[in-house]
Amino acid sequence: MIRCEALIVGGGPAGSSCASRLVAAGRDVLVIDKATFPRDKVCAGWITPAVVRALALDLNAYAAEGLTLQPFTGFRTGAVGGALRTTDFGETVSYGIRRCEFDDYLLRRSGARVLGGTPVATLRRERGEWVVNDRIRAEIVVGAGGHFCPVARHLNPPRGRERVVVAQEIEFPVPASGCLVPAATPDLYFWPDLMGYGWCVRKGDHVNIGAGRLDCDDLPATVRAFAADLARRGILPGGVPGKWKGHAYLLNRTTARQLVADGALLVGDAAGLALAPSGEGILAAVESGLLAAEALIEASDRPSADALAPYADMVARRFETRAERLAGVPAVPSWIVGAAAQVLLRSRWLTRRVLLEDWFLHRRRPQLPWRSDNAPLPAAAAD
Ligand SMILES: Cc1cc2nc3c(=O)[nH]c(=O)nc-3n(C[C@H](O)[C@H](O)[C@H](O)COP(=O)(O)OP(=O)(O)OC[C@H]3O[C@@H](n4cnc5c(N)ncnc54)[C@H](O)[C@@H]3O)c2cc1C
Repeated sequence: MIRCEALIVGGGPAGSSCASRLVAAGRDVLVIDKATFPRDKVCAGWITPAVVRALALDLNAYAAEGLTLQPFTGFRTGAVGGALRTTDFGETVSYGIRRCEFDDYLLRRSGARVLGGTPVATLRRERGEWVVNDRIRAEIVVGAGGHFCPVARHLNPPRGRERVVVAQEIEFPVPASGCLVPAATPDLYFWPDLMGYGWCVRKGDHVNIGAGRLDCDDLPATVRAFAADLARRGILPGGVPGKWKGHAYLLNRTTARQLVADGALLVGDAAGLALAPSGEGILAAVESGLLAAEALIEASDRPSADALAPYADMVARRFETRAERLAGVPAVPSWIVGAAAQVLLRSRWLTRRVLLEDWFLHRRRPQLPWRSDNAPLPAAAAD
């Protein structure tokens, strides 16, 4: 039998952030993951400066390992099939990373013991402890296993269909036929109902193309049409060289998952916290991982559901989870949304101030309380 104080199920950004903080506090942490790291994750690989600050990430050290770090100074935005507008902030406002590198780096940096290539198949409570796969005993289990996390399933028996974002992407080396997206200003293409968008992003010598939509029944057809639009524009003349990879996840506004139980809590996609409307999930994963670690340290050696309840309250405040409050609120008619989308995308000011600064970059969202310095980013962030 393997023993540990805290077993973290999933070594993505949520799990490694939580692990890192717990290890720093002297806890005995084991991260278990069904994949063997380095592993890839279906993702565009775009992170905002808030992620860098929350992780206290030394970008020079990151780049010095030869890992991809593409600064973005702005975006080109428009409607699917419509004209593009460039908004350049004149400074780095985001970064492109590759998840096969980033997640591995964070997990190594956490200092936690890692058990890779091991799916969690069974989970039960026994004499005040968790028993996992009949061979690991832990006082605490943190569900960081993404949307289909086994701990999330254990805490949340099925109760009807959840409103998910479904998304597909493909990442590949810049083809010989070229890619006309400027590396510093990735493309974002919106559907008129504002229920999703497509992207085309350069990250060093790689390109990532994809699209995600809320409540979408036929994403593959939508993605094919989007890729055809890119080819028609001449942005990716050679087309897409391979298979799309897809995944689903929840947004903070519509998640209704229970986050805590005796000796257990959920973080990241397992909790369903990606930020609407951009779908930025890495920031939510990192922040919830750190908040969970603080709650566990605070609860000390008595991590009952009551002692962990402040974590659920912090998450509700920080991520504005409000599924209950939204229930029964009538949807805005589609013609109004369509008209608003046109106004938004055609206005230079609204595109910059609302679409990009508020919805995508969260520029006015406060840092976590203990990361409030807003210190300038390290040198590797410079263009
Ligand atoms: C197409 C697409 C594009 C996206 N683009 C972006 C983006 O550009 N920027 C952004 O911020 N967010 C993006 N997101 C969202 C982002 O990828 C997620 O929100 C983020 O990865 C969540 O991190 P996490 O640590 O909670 O989960 P994950 O990163 O999914 O990590 C979960 C880990 O748990 C492991 N695991 C799962 N099941 C088990 C099991 N049974 N036993 C053991 N281990 C298990 C997995 O192997 C995995 O390593 C995108 C999502 C999609 C689908």
